[in-house]
Amino acid sequence: MICTPIAASTPDDLLAALPVAAAAADWLELRLDALHNLSVEAVLRALHHVLPRRPRPVVVTFRPREQGGFRDLSHADRLRFWHSALTTPAEAFDLETDLIAPLLPTYPPDHPVWARVVVSHHDFQATPADIHAFALAHFPPHAGTVKLAVKVNQPDDVCRLFDWLTGTPSATPSTWQKIPVGMGGLGVLTRILGPAYGARWTYSTGHDGRAVAPGQLTATELRETFRLSSLDRHTIVAGLLGCPVAHSLSKDLHNAAFAHLGLNWVYIPVEVSPDDLAPFLRDAIHPRTRRLPWTVGGYSVTLPHKVAILPYLDRLTATAARVGAVNTILVSGQELIGDNTDVAGAMRPLQQRFAVEGEPVAVLGAGGAAQAVVCGLVAAGAQVTVFARHPARAQDLGARFDVPIVPLDDFHGRRFVGLVNTTPVGMAGYAEGACPVPPERLEGLAWVYDLIYRPRHTALLQAASQQGIATLDGLPMLIAQAAEQLARWTGRDVPETILFAAAERALHSVRPAP
Ligand code: NAP
Repeated sequence: MICTPIAASTPDDLLAALPVAAAAADWLELRLDALHNLSVEAVLRALHHVLPRRPRPVVVTFRPREQGGFRDLSHADRLRFWHSALTTPAEAFDLETDLIAPLLPTYPPDHPVWARVVVSHHDFQATPADIHAFALAHFPPHAGTVKLAVKVNQPDDVCRLFDWLTGTPSATPSTWQKIPVGMGGLGVLTRILGPAYGARWTYSTGHDGRAVAPGQLTATELRETFRLSSLDRHTIVAGLLGCPVAHSLSKDLHNAAFAHLGLNWVYIPVEVSPDDLAPFLRDAIHPRTRRLPWTVGGYSVTLPHKVAILPYLDRLTATAARVGAVNTILVSGQELIGDNTDVAGAMRPLQQRFAVEGEPVAVLGAGGAAQAVVCGLVAAGAQVTVFARHPARAQDLGARFDVPIVPLDDFHGRRFVGLVNTTPVGMAGYAEGACPVPPERLEGLAWVYDLIYRPRHTALLQAASQQGIATLDGLPMLIAQAAEQLARWTGRDVPETILFAAAERALHSVRPAP
């Protein structure tokens, strides 16, 4: 179940938003506190006007600013509002915990309205240490639903939220339906997997796509990308570990592949800070220590963890050991294995187009992607030279693969057949429109391969095309390394056309560039 908040500032806008929000939501949350210029009586009139026109069940919310709401409200205003609102036929009412005692004289515990009440507690700083004890102390036993929206600051917080959701200590009222909401990067696991483990619903961003709480996803993403309604306790969880992860296309590729293959898997990008890497691997992934209740199928690894993760893995594949970096975690029995599909991902599209054996090839940049490219090119028998803006930093790469490291300014295409750009120069959000080398220095090359995929036609590739040089962009590499991951996790092959279509859809969506 997906609940989409509508935070409109006028009754007309609220009415207009109903069908928009209803397109992807199961429930609509009427954030009446967003009607910030109206008196309590005018807000109640708006509620009475909207209710007969609701296209989905609604939960009514009227939250004061100090509890995360949009407006200042006195205690008396809130009580006046709720005494009237609770008599309406709305399907649910979200009441903050401090309102329960004052409402009891009018609505005693056995009053039927409590079955429709969601008692909520918000903490934008932290998760309670003992959630079961906290819930028993703060939520009334007669509430139909209890909601705990808290900031998760560490993997342990997520584990305890799932423990609260799935566990029922003897004192817990058996009638409670629960809604755990983890706010922040790690909280994405509660937002996507909460309903599969019994949460009454999960909150999406507002109907206009804007987040009304940190970490929310749009209802369309929840429904279409993550296939929320098909997730259950048997769903195998894969994902991405990185920081940041918001703009990664991996979730689009992998989830489209799972859907195409009919696999009960989901792929969830999780923003894991360097400090959280070891605890996240321990609590959420490693088969010997995992505390979260699902089976893990595998993880992708991206910046800044590709090298930092090495000490936490039980062993590495030969490719990952050669590259010295991991972009794929495999779960095998009780072990975590570090693998690297960037090498195959980079080389497969390249070798499908151009011969490299014995050929002089220049690589621009000496970072993580360069490690995989150089590893693959050397293994394929190319004569590799690395051009780096800080050659001193690249000495380790040079020594590891026995290739020369040369200052970037010394690059000239006449000495090479092919050029691979592994720098981010020309990428959306990073020197977009710039070329990593002066265009006239491309003269003499037969082909240019740019690993950047956003945009696909970088300034470098445009300059190469104009000079009649063959080009290859970074999208086929992204697709190929994802296809390799899928095959290693699931044992299944997915047609690359499915992955290309998913990538094209995501690249053309309105999401801002990284
Ligand atoms: P990285 O580890 O940060 O390495 C970037 C490299 O580029 C470093 O050697 C860096 O040099 C150099 N560099 C950065 N800015 C530069 C500039 N203005 N001029 C010259 N050199 C510069 O990043 P990465 O993970 O290797 O990723 C690099 C690029 O490859 C990104 O655009 C990424 O999107 C792309 N990529 C694509 C795929 C794919 O599937 N298509 C996969 C991986 C990466 P310093 O060491 O001096 O900073």
